[in-house]
Formats: sequence, C-alpha cells, structure tokens
Amino acid sequence: MRFEIITIFPEFFSGFFDHGVVRRALKEGLVSVGVRDLRDFTHDRHRTVDDRPFGGGEGMVLKPEPLAEALESLGIAAKAAREASLSPILAPESGDKDGTPSSLTEGASNSGTDGAPISVDADARQTGTRVILLSPQGRRFTQATARALISQEQVVLICGRYEGVDERINTLYCDLEISIGDYVLSGGELAAAVVMDAVTRLVPGVLGNEASSEFESFGIADSSISADEAGIPRSQHGSGGLLDYPHFTRPAEFKGLGAPQVLLNGDHRQIRRWRREQQLRKTLANRPDLLERAELSDEDRRMLVDLGWRTAS
Ligand code: SAM
Repeated sequence: MRFEIITIFPEFFSGFFDHGVVRRALKEGLVSVGVRDLRDFTHDRHRTVDDRPFGGGEGMVLKPEPLAEALESLGIAAKAAREASLSPILAPESGDKDGTPSSLTEGASNSGTDGAPISVDADARQTGTRVILLSPQGRRFTQATARALISQEQVVLICGRYEGVDERINTLYCDLEISIGDYVLSGGELAAAVVMDAVTRLVPGVLGNEASSEFESFGIADSSISADEAGIPRSQHGSGGLLDYPHFTRPAEFKGLGAPQVLLNGDHRQIRRWRREQQLRKTLANRPDLLERAELSDEDRRMLVDLGWRTAS
C-alpha cells in the first residue's frame, strides 16, 4: 500500500519515517510513501500557497490551485470523475455514535455496530485511492477507520495549515475528512503521521507477530481469534472494543510493588480471566463509553456489575 502526503513542510516527516515499525515497513517494501511539497505546485516567484480568507477574519487559507495541481500530478482526478470508475465511497454517517466510519465503502453494513472496531468484510472492500483531508472538522479517526484503510492501494493525506484548506478542495477531491481528536493542532502533519502509523502497523506482515494487533486496545472480539494450536488455552483475551489489560515485565518487584501474582504462576486460564477483568476494570474507569458498544459476554456483564457498572437503560 502506498501513502502520499501533501504538505508545506516535507522535512517534517524524515524523523518519523526513520523509526520503529514505520521504518521497517518502508524498508521491507510493505508500504511505500511519497511526500509532495505543496510549494512545488505554485507558479509565482514567492511560491505562494496561501491567501486571505474571503469574508474577512483571522489568518490565511491554503489556496485551492496548488493543492489541485498536486493531486492531479498524482493522477487523482476530481471525485466525480473517480466515482465513475470506482464504486461509491463513503458509508452514510448515520448510526456512528463516535463518528467512526464502519467502512469506507458503501455496501458494508454498519447497522448495530455503532463505530465498534469491526473488520471490513472482504467482499465489501474497494481498493483504489482514497483522498483524506486532515481537519479538526472531520470524522473522528479510530482503529476501525485504520482497519478500513488497509484495504486501499493508495491513501493520499492532505495536511492543512493556518486556518485550513479552501473548502472546494474538500468538496471536489476528498473522500474523507478525518480528525485525530477534539483539539486543534497547528498543522495536519502530525495528524497525517498518526494516520500513517496506525494504518501501517495493521498491514499484514508489518508487525512481526500478527497477534500483536489482535490483542490490543480497540481490538477484535475474542470469538474472532482462533485458539492456540495443540489445545493450549490462550493466556490473552481479544478486547472486543475494550481497552487493553495492563502489562508487566521483570523485575517481579519494583520500588515495593510486585507484579500481579497470577501472571507469574503459568496458569493460562487464570491469567486470561484476570486479564479480561482488568480490561473491563480499565475500560469502566477510563472509557465507559466503549462499554455501550463492546462485545460483552454474560460473564463480562456480571463482572462489570460487580465493579459498579450501571448501564444507561
Ligand atoms: N480553522 C480550523 C478549525 O478551527 O477547524 C483549524 C485549522 S488548524 C490551525 C490547521 C490545520 O491543522 C488543519 O487544516 C488540519 O490540517 C490540521 N489539524 C488541526 N487539528 C487537527 C485535528 N484534530 N485532526 C486533524 N487535523 C488537524
């Protein structure tokens, strides 16, 4: 899969590409990336990319012409022309409690999931190019969005600056407007890095152990993860949309605090049960909103009630 990033600060990304999982994925050719300097698509002496906002007000706005030219240099036509060759792109927004697209394509049902971390049905996947505008006004980026994006051949990330991007670029070219959270950054570069990192680590083969992305916060349901071979019960528990459980490593005792005894006894069933309880406990404490749409067993619900959970109904 390929990422293309359009920015006025191309150097911003060099450190990001040089570290950790992203570096390895690039080196092994599992993902590739191009960074386009928006100023290369200007035609005046000052390489002007911004202008004052119509209607007055603070700040500057990124002009539409260089952005359109940058996109067209990547072979990206306006949305209307692309939609003729690709199937329709966005699932309707309705039903997303947290603004999460359950799919980037029409045709994949999102009913009843309400933004829970679901995997995109292979039949519903559409490959091709998706153009994303990073913006605080966008739909919230979640693990479900990241999962939906891995099926794309190319993801183009447009980084705004100043007051943002001339809205006609969004209207004409962008398939998705994405916010990485309810705060305002000074530019879209950090947001683009966040999206690229979260998507890259889900690309098959990028994480050494595929299970690493199954057993983590916002992960898939336990019922969708196969048991260990040789009948050994797993000591982990798929989160099914909850937060991860806490992790411990050596030393067994640190500054007077011991690692939980249950993790040291080698009993996989007990460890698994303890970890599930911790997932529930942590989610209830830090993100009770996730419980409303998580995949919970009867035992989970009993544990939650014991922990003081009161459902909305
Ligand atoms: N005037 C805009 C508003 O109030 O919604 C804020 C513009 S912000 C200062 C400049 C750029 O930073 C945006 O165009 C966008 O690309 C990026 N940005 C800021 N916050 C973001 C967020 N939460 N998610 C994604 N991108 C963000």
